[in-house]
Amino acid sequence: MSKVYTFRGGTHVTEYKNTRGLQIEKLPSPERVEIPLAQHIGVHCKPVVSVGDHVYKGQLIGDAETGLTCLVHASISGTVSEIKVRHNAQAQPVETVVIAGDGKEEPDPSIRPFGKKLSQTSPEEIVEVVRRAGISGMGGAMFPTHAKIKSSIGKVDRLIINCAECEPFITANHRLMLERPTDIINGAKVLLRALGLSLAELCVEDNKIDAINRLLEKTAGSPFIKVRVMKTKYPQGDERQLVYALTGREIPAGKLPADAGCVVFNAETCAVIFRAFATGMPLVERCITVDGDCVREPKNLLVPLGTPYRALIEYCGGLVREPYKIINGGPMMGAARWEFDAPVTKGTSAVLVFSESFAGIKDNSACIRCGRCVKNCPMHLMPVYLAHYAMARRYDDAAKMGVMSCVECGTCSYNCPGNVQIVQYIRVAKSALKAKINQIKEDK
Ligand code: SF4
Ligand code: SF4
Repeated sequence: MSKVYTFRGGTHVTEYKNTRGLQIEKLPSPERVEIPLAQHIGVHCKPVVSVGDHVYKGQLIGDAETGLTCLVHASISGTVSEIKVRHNAQAQPVETVVIAGDGKEEPDPSIRPFGKKLSQTSPEEIVEVVRRAGISGMGGAMFPTHAKIKSSIGKVDRLIINCAECEPFITANHRLMLERPTDIINGAKVLLRALGLSLAELCVEDNKIDAINRLLEKTAGSPFIKVRVMKTKYPQGDERQLVYALTGREIPAGKLPADAGCVVFNAETCAVIFRAFATGMPLVERCITVDGDCVREPKNLLVPLGTPYRALIEYCGGLVREPYKIINGGPMMGAARWEFDAPVTKGTSAVLVFSESFAGIKDNSACIRCGRCVKNCPMHLMPVYLAHYAMARRYDDAAKMGVMSCVECGTCSYNCPGNVQIVQYIRVAKSALKAKINQIKEDK
């Protein structure tokens, strides 16, 4: 095997990749979806449909007049039955369009392939296709993809496709690489054209040898696409670690990969970009892993956006024990949800349901000063001090020690023998500091 790339720090987590051998199944069209009009970072969209309207699959239902935003489309055909406010994973209120499905999956008649050869397509046209398709980062970051491409044009010299999927349990990208490798590769070619670059690097951890071989087979002889093998280590999928491992470039605190000449796109985002060109269908569905010790038959599913978790769990045979924690995303960086009616969004890579015995917080919580959190922090921070400053509400001292550079990967908490909830304390400190900065801005 060729060179294996890695970064400093990090940890080896128990993988629990229970679904890696399971093909992606298409979830039958749900009876009802609830589609939030903000599934991205930026300005929330406003509904452009009304209660009682018939909608097609792929029809625009949410738009914003100004600012950084991401369009929202109907994920099934049917009738708009309600427009309401519901709270997202960050507990923010978001306008949400409820569609009662007709089971027909009728696509919007205006949807058609882009129709021009890639070699005759300009970067501006690519940005516009991606914008119209409502694509945002599908690895969890949810940044509008058209804006990321646009701001990277002329600024980066490395295009990195993040196929690491380092979180435990999640295997949806792994399956995508095995089952739809050409979608990812063709998406990378579209991005190369947009960015005016000549090489895209697909980065895969070495615990997915079958996916590496599949991509190598499909890219054999290509001077434009190379497969890079990454050492399996958490959080290899964090873009800062990926950029460092591959290029040796460090992203300065508070800056983006583009400031180090790199841009990183998630594997499924890449595939969806290609499909927007090939079919014209916007982002209305995504692959997710449904797993956790409470789920009877864990699966990888292709799911319309807005599908309630409840429908996924039912399709997976229901629950086998009392649920204690529902997580949107991976167990390390995902967000806990409190209801089975929460909808799948563009950033939902997994829905995990755990029992208390699996995911419960241990009682004893005391630092034994072992230093493991410091040794493993991939951002080279001092997590133990950050947590102690946060506990004492000394947020300015936490800021001086770099708390805002924490990527909330959870490596410190995972390794802590004292069961100190380090990341939770760090999140509190970061929220307090952000609130303080916003207050200062408002007062000016
Ligand atoms: S890993 Fe936990 S116990 Fe060890 S120094 Fe850090 S906070 Fe303390
Ligand atoms: S301090 Fe932040 S970046 Fe460092 S290990 Fe903990 S969560 Fe990860």
